[in-house]
Amino acid sequence: MSFKPLLPGALSERGQPITLGVMGGGQLGRMFVQAAQAMGYTTAVLDPDPASPAGLISHHHVQTAYDDPAGLAELAHLCDAITTEFENVPAPALRQLAEQRPVAPSADCVAVAQDRLQEKAHFVQCAPISGVFPAPYAGIESADQMATVPENLLPGILKTARLGYDGKGQVRVKTRAELESAWTQLGGVACVLEKLMPLRSECSVLVARGADGQTVCFPVQANTHLDGILAITEVFDGAVAGELAQRAQASTVAVANHLNYVGVLCVEYFVVDNGQGGSDLIVNEMAPRPHNSGHYSQNACDISQFEAQVRALAGLPLHTPRQHSPSLMVNLLGDLWFAPNGVRAQASEHPVPPPWAEVLALPGTHLHLYGKTSARKGRKMGHLNITGETAAQVREAAAQALVLLGLPALN
Ligand code: ATP
Ligand code: MG
Repeated sequence: MSFKPLLPGALSERGQPITLGVMGGGQLGRMFVQAAQAMGYTTAVLDPDPASPAGLISHHHVQTAYDDPAGLAELAHLCDAITTEFENVPAPALRQLAEQRPVAPSADCVAVAQDRLQEKAHFVQCAPISGVFPAPYAGIESADQMATVPENLLPGILKTARLGYDGKGQVRVKTRAELESAWTQLGGVACVLEKLMPLRSECSVLVARGADGQTVCFPVQANTHLDGILAITEVFDGAVAGELAQRAQASTVAVANHLNYVGVLCVEYFVVDNGQGGSDLIVNEMAPRPHNSGHYSQNACDISQFEAQVRALAGLPLHTPRQHSPSLMVNLLGDLWFAPNGVRAQASEHPVPPPWAEVLALPGTHLHLYGKTSARKGRKMGHLNITGETAAQVREAAAQALVLLGLPALN
């Protein structure tokens, strides 16, 4: 993909203000729209939901299914370039858009990230350059393949090859019998069996790559998950050991380069014991878009992951993000609305917002809510970024916020 930069405030060849589009209207689309609008762009969102978080605030909202040819034609007509905010946008839809407008990341890149089998094969191809391998795994697409799964992958996690997120479509299995029943339970669809790794910790890296091949990395994010969903991200010196952090960044650049990726890409890693008293990295999965673990960048860096996404899409210069504050992000799931004061014993049947005034009285707190009209358990409603002068101050404010929100204490 190569084209002239799409300058904010300029008129397109069609005589319309330059318009950036996004497939998907969830929270990531909303924060892309906010970043694009802050820079003076007009925005368009395609999402079937009339109350989608991004659709609510965008200049244009095309309310059709992702694969509706008329909706796609309308989006292409409105926009000068188009990106995506979730990986399950049908790749053929991106191909249709790409016939008329620059689309970044490309349908081919998104297709790799949509399918764990292709994704892992890609990581294996990158390993000679990146030095980082995925966990041992086997593809299971048929009963024959099921029968020949190597014993040493157990205990493991069976994951559907497609459409998994937030730990959905995953079953932990210890024996071959459990594996067979888990596969049936998942509908006998194409799956990946991954060896269960003894995780020391988890981290992720965001890279932004321009159409000219230039890459810039964000600092490495240390992530804590609860029930398969990201709960906390910490980013400050020492949150991830220096040598591992450098390797994770180099590996992420290799993954992006090898795909000829354009846009913002997030790659997730496991940190495991290397058997010699040290740690090793395992590459887990990638997201062809900004990522929940990168939200801290909105308040802690001089360029957020969403601004980087806008710049990459518009063909504007990228520069290495500078983190100016140690930072910690707390994910705010809908569950909090049902235990408003953090007291489970008083859990309410009707959603009640958490005690924001008390939370925001803590130093360095920045609240981001996604404008979702109803809270549901497990639904991502927003996040709280906490910044401070030192990591210790950030963790202290976070500890107090977690008590107010009734969430588990930090490790
Ligand atoms: P998301 O898209 O929200 O990141 P997901 O549903 O795609 O999640 P994964 O990232 O594959 O799922 O797994 C979710 C979490 O489960 C991981 O962050 C990790 O905590 C745990 N996990 C996944 N695979 C393994 C493994 N092979 N060994 C140990 N733990 C694992
Ligand atoms: Mg994951």
